[in-house]
Amino acid sequence: MTVPPAPVRVRLAPSPTGFVHIGNVLVALVDAAIARQAGGTFVIRIEDTDQKRFVDGAEELIYESLHWLGIEWQEAPDRGGPFAPYRQSARLPLYQEYAERLIAQGDAYRCWCSPDRLEQMRFAQQAAKLPPKYDRRCLGMTEAERKALDGYTPDSVVRLRMHDSGSTTFTDPIRGTLAFENGLLDDRVLLKSDGFPTYNLAVVVDDHLMRITHVVRGEEWLPSTPAHLRVYEALGWDPPLIAHTPLLLNADRGKISKRRHPWANMQWFRDQGFLPEAVLNYLGNLIAFVPDTENPAPGVARELFGFDEIAAHFNLASIGPSGKVVDIDRLDWLNGQYIRRMSVEDLAVKAAPFLAAAGYDVNTLPTYRAALALEHERIKRLSQAPQALSFFFDDEEYDPAMLVPRGATAGRALELLDGAIAVCQSVAESGDWTVSTLDDRFRAHAEARGLTTGKLRGQLFGVVRVGSTGRTATPPLFDTLAVLGASVVLRRLSVARNHLECLAAIDGPPAEGQ
Ligand code: GLU
Repeated sequence: MTVPPAPVRVRLAPSPTGFVHIGNVLVALVDAAIARQAGGTFVIRIEDTDQKRFVDGAEELIYESLHWLGIEWQEAPDRGGPFAPYRQSARLPLYQEYAERLIAQGDAYRCWCSPDRLEQMRFAQQAAKLPPKYDRRCLGMTEAERKALDGYTPDSVVRLRMHDSGSTTFTDPIRGTLAFENGLLDDRVLLKSDGFPTYNLAVVVDDHLMRITHVVRGEEWLPSTPAHLRVYEALGWDPPLIAHTPLLLNADRGKISKRRHPWANMQWFRDQGFLPEAVLNYLGNLIAFVPDTENPAPGVARELFGFDEIAAHFNLASIGPSGKVVDIDRLDWLNGQYIRRMSVEDLAVKAAPFLAAAGYDVNTLPTYRAALALEHERIKRLSQAPQALSFFFDDEEYDPAMLVPRGATAGRALELLDGAIAVCQSVAESGDWTVSTLDDRFRAHAEARGLTTGKLRGQLFGVVRVGSTGRTATPPLFDTLAVLGASVVLRRLSVARNHLECLAAIDGPPAEGQ
């Protein structure tokens, strides 16, 4: 009779030590994809046994970040489940029980070495260029025997006894078969003197008791895996499949540093106004190749896709072991694509908090949606909305010299502006302050003034653009004027006129014949 395969159970085992690292989110996505593919269960277990590094609120931040991205889980401290409790700090007696069992079997031993002694030992090893490794001073001793020697402390820890020779091998679905020489492996601490387990004991006990079938974690945990396998062996348990995902790298293919790469922190993506769909799509690109169904040529990838496609096309083995570069420019592009596909209404709702944070109350601007529509294609992050829209809210200061087109004098700019003010006044009086009327009248005016070349028309429109917005680059001019409204435009152009008068006075009258 064949044994039916165990139902797939994966877990994310974050330590609540502060911010949510993007690497952990990638692992969560892999977990969720495995669970979805196999109709399995995704568990979140909180590894809070390192009390010194515990940060209040960090656990909630993990749930919030995954929830924001649309990654779902089924069992966790916030959900409960058949293997509760899911917080390690609530499971301490379990780990103590297994540590005792390992000691009784001779697979672990107590160690009474003081921190000072361990430090001296490390210095000596470093000086001799030896690998850092506990020298087993306490192995095989009773407390009384050990006490008689130097460097004793009554606060004992429990250490795992690694094998002296041979090697530990295992097959990582991402990296293939790996072998570690046992003689080089350290007798790691399993239980600390305060009775709390270390990661190395708790992770094995919980993965086993919670019936985890696939352990997925970042490459940085690879050196711990031989110790975990030793614990599985000593307790007579079958290890799960253990996969180590590649590191995420910066654009220079270097390690991500929290200080230099703020995007190491998941919160950064939210603060910058990336959409969860875009971030999920971006991370999905790192772990799955989603073919383009509309262009099914081999090797053509689909650009925009969501979790269903990631889960359908994901394959652990094809992630590959080499580091994945996080390309924020590409994410900006992707986010811009998602923003373009949103309705203005949707964008208006999502951009409003970013504007509010910058001090702009969208309720005070009746043309908010129309203004946003003009900037829609240009906005790549929601956090760019305040910069893109500020001139619709406020009369902004600008350098009056910007009003003078290249190759022209202030006097000439003033002439152009006077003509433009007259056009605006007459359009305003006509009661038809619309894009098409502004466009018609300005073109007729340019024609009448002999501004027939692109350059001359550009000078006219340039003066109007800077005068009405304070900027040299804006959405299409007449659309912008239409949304700003006649009274704002006329007021700003009159301020611009004052600026130009001052500049022209400084320049002095145009020389004869000019
Ligand atoms: N607590 C570890 C972490 O913070 C878990 C590593 C693992 O998944 O085994 O990432």
